[in-house]
Amino acid sequence: MSDRQLDHEAVIVGAGFGGMGAAIEFTRLGIEDFLILEREDDLGGTWHVNHYPGLAVDIASVTYSYSFEPNPYWSRLFAPGAELKQYAGHIADKYDLRRRMEFGVIVERAEWDDDGEFWTVRARGGREITARYLVTATGFLSQPYTPNFPGIDTFAGDIIHTTDWRDGYDFGGRRAAVIGTGATAVQLIPEIARRARSLTVFQRTAIWVVPKVDFPIPRPVQRLFAAVPLAQKAARVVNTSMLEALMVTGVLHYKQAKPGNQLAALLAKAHMRLQVRDKQTRKDLTPDYDFGCKRPTFSNTYFRVFNQQNVALETGTIDHIDADGIVTEDGTKVLADTLVLATGFNLWDVNFPAFQIIGRDGRDLGKWWRDGRFQAYEGITVPKFPNFLTLNSPYSYSGLSYFTTIEGQMKHIGRLFGEMRRRGTQRFEVTEKANAEFLDRATKNLASSVFYAGNCATSRSYYFNQHGEATLLRPNSTLSTLREQGSFPLEDYEYA
Ligand code: NAP
Repeated sequence: MSDRQLDHEAVIVGAGFGGMGAAIEFTRLGIEDFLILEREDDLGGTWHVNHYPGLAVDIASVTYSYSFEPNPYWSRLFAPGAELKQYAGHIADKYDLRRRMEFGVIVERAEWDDDGEFWTVRARGGREITARYLVTATGFLSQPYTPNFPGIDTFAGDIIHTTDWRDGYDFGGRRAAVIGTGATAVQLIPEIARRARSLTVFQRTAIWVVPKVDFPIPRPVQRLFAAVPLAQKAARVVNTSMLEALMVTGVLHYKQAKPGNQLAALLAKAHMRLQVRDKQTRKDLTPDYDFGCKRPTFSNTYFRVFNQQNVALETGTIDHIDADGIVTEDGTKVLADTLVLATGFNLWDVNFPAFQIIGRDGRDLGKWWRDGRFQAYEGITVPKFPNFLTLNSPYSYSGLSYFTTIEGQMKHIGRLFGEMRRRGTQRFEVTEKANAEFLDRATKNLASSVFYAGNCATSRSYYFNQHGEATLLRPNSTLSTLREQGSFPLEDYEYA
């Protein structure tokens, strides 16, 4: 190893809950010299970027938060987005992370120097930062996707992507069109429908929507959670167990527990039957793929919107966009003066990884994943990428709440760095063998999931990559993820 002076011990890219989780773990391990680089102008990741009306969590807040940092004061069972942003700020303050963050830094490239054993991280503008360890926490849903509709540049009205919301935007008197019916659209559409003169929802693929059992958390309960943290912990265990049952039986063990999956679909259909009056609209809103192929959503207000006089559902394929509206393939034009793009994110082409990463022997991570198969050992490390932790990786997402994923990864980091300390080393790299075995296991387990054993052909789900493989979710229970992350064989790594 060269005796070159490095700028930092570690660089973490991303100041969302993932990056902050890694930073908290580093601090626990005594690694104090780290820098967190963030593309946006503040921390919070997805909860900073997204602030469209109706934004809320879709995993109950007792579960959607760090287990070691409960917040007794969530105002609702499913907290609004602004509270998540506030919670992120609280975490940064409590763990003294703000002073280590730099905002508005767009990382474009990172390269491993095998002789010097360090990473060089290059930001837009040419600045270079060196560090022994590199962590990418750039999110799964962080590269907004805007379809290239012919003529979109000629649209004379306002175009708003949901990740670039104009706070206070007034839909009053406007003819709005929303493209997309994913989780974001499901939250946003009822808000727009309330204000707009007219609203047309362009749906390409219907989404499964189940009822959302949500209510304000009364003050006395908040005070109880604050005074007796065990009470909130118990609520977390109950809620997490329910989610786990849904995920494990409905999605991962579809083959063995098909009735569980069908029951969820029946619930969603009954929910729609109760809320949508028109038979054809119900038909159009009913997915033709199995429940769980795509992330299902929760809402009590979405379906009802389609009974409103001022709301229309459009299922025709968009052909092009004119100055004054959207034209479908059959020549129908829907007049619009505000176009909302709820068109989601690009994961597989531009987000895995979010910037160019070059490892040992010149291996380009994105190219390697795309030319071969998407893979990462335990969803966090990759062969030929020494001293690199990639938090948003193939097979890293475990369960439904992102906090399970990050807390599992924190355990992994703790075990790995603990071993390095025991050995008195500073370099790690996962072995090709361990990585291959993990990939084999994940591939084998996925065979029972709804993704392969069910009917997902028409779902257009972002769980599938461009090779048609469902490589996003880790195919085991969150309990076994947490166990494995804390007990993986230490010899799965080479240390030097
Ligand atoms: P999404 O699920 O990817 O949905 C994008 C929508 O845009 C889909 O309906 C898609 O149709 C449509 N679309 C894309 N390109 C199109 C085109 N060329 N023509 C017509 N339609 C097109 O994105 P999202 O709704 O932003 O949600 C992404 C994820 O974020 C969710 O699954 C969830 O995990 C998370 N999320 C969470 C919350 C929460 O916790 N509260 C809220 C919002 C989002 P196709 O289906 O046909 O591709």
